[in-house]
Amino acid sequence: MVDAERLLEIEKKSPTNLQNEKIVIINFNNNKIVYTTDNNRELNIGGGLIEKVKAGQLVTYKQSPFEVLGALFYNDYGRFIVIAAATDTERSRRQKTLIPIMIVVCFVSLLFLFAGGWIYSGRALKPISDVVNRVQEISITSLNLRVNEGNGTDELGRLAKTFNNMLARLETSFAMQKEFISNASHELRTPLTSINGQIEVLMMKERSSEEYRSALESVLEDIKKLIDLSNKLLLIARTSSENPVRQFRNTRIDEIIWLAQEEIIRFNKSYHINIHMDELLTDSDKMVVEGDENLLKVAVSNIIENGCKYSSDHTVDIKFGHPGKFIDIKFEDRGIGISEEDLKKVFEPFYRGSNTISYKGSGIGLQLANQIILNHNGTIKISSELNKGTTVTVVLPSLS
Ligand code: ADP
Repeated sequence: MVDAERLLEIEKKSPTNLQNEKIVIINFNNNKIVYTTDNNRELNIGGGLIEKVKAGQLVTYKQSPFEVLGALFYNDYGRFIVIAAATDTERSRRQKTLIPIMIVVCFVSLLFLFAGGWIYSGRALKPISDVVNRVQEISITSLNLRVNEGNGTDELGRLAKTFNNMLARLETSFAMQKEFISNASHELRTPLTSINGQIEVLMMKERSSEEYRSALESVLEDIKKLIDLSNKLLLIARTSSENPVRQFRNTRIDEIIWLAQEEIIRFNKSYHINIHMDELLTDSDKMVVEGDENLLKVAVSNIIENGCKYSSDHTVDIKFGHPGKFIDIKFEDRGIGISEEDLKKVFEPFYRGSNTISYKGSGIGLQLANQIILNHNGTIKISSELNKGTTVTVVLPSLS
């Protein structure tokens, strides 16, 4: 058998020597060290470790700076516990170089990630920024511009489509407002120009009191027209705002019509307004509607006045009905009627039928009446035949 010193010699010269290598061989039977290269007793070999190895376990653990391995070994000379330890200098050397490499790799990949993300997000968000830029170009004077809808199927396309629809509605509404203002100014200017002309002519020379009287009467008529027009315009503004101020209370529609009849006849003696009463209806609560008395009177007065104005007998027949939870009021005349073409537009502001040139009017009475009835959750329908007559039907929700 080779003695321990000889082994030590061999061990030192062995080219495969590991860094800081320590080998300790312990006799299985008496736990005595039979061979050791750990002269300075650096390895901490406790009883626990020896017992584990004796039990047949291959024990590995780290005892800084050593990596330790304990194993059971036996041959013809007996059983031994071999503890081998060494410092893994190669690994720590590699670890040291790996850290800067990993830092660099980390930074480079972060850089790539950032650049990639920036490019892709830019590409993905481009349609949105295009829409934003386009929207910024759109102002009150360029409502005709539209944003790009792309294929119009994805979320952004649908958003652009909705936005374009909104622009179209705004454009129409602005155009209507513009037209309304120009029509209103025209309607207001006509009587004012007439008043101005009459006064100028009147003042050219001395006039007789008769002449003054007739001129003043004519001016007064123009002033009344102006007052009527501005009242209607104010009411249109009041009833067309998004949240019209409502002073609704329970009111009888037949009484409103009686009042309207009285007022109209007071100023137009030649008008005939026949209210056909149905006793069963008028005696019941079915005539009660929820609404603004004054506004409803304006609406029905406009309808009645039209019927009288546009018929040679100046007569309107008013009939009531009570279908379901509604009250319907029919205003019938045997006048000039409305052509099919005009019928489509009579509710538009300042629109006048082609057969009304010889009749006075401004073309906003029906629009106002329609707006008022709509505010009362009702409807107006007109059926008419040229030169035969017109029936205007107002339907309002009744309270019983
Ligand atoms: P206007 O001041 O011209 O009467 P309205 O708004 O009251 O204005 O009516 C609009 C148009 O509707 C009238 O110009 C006329 O052509 C038509 N119209 C309304 N009611 C009647 C009716 N009862 N008979 C014939 N035409 C009517």
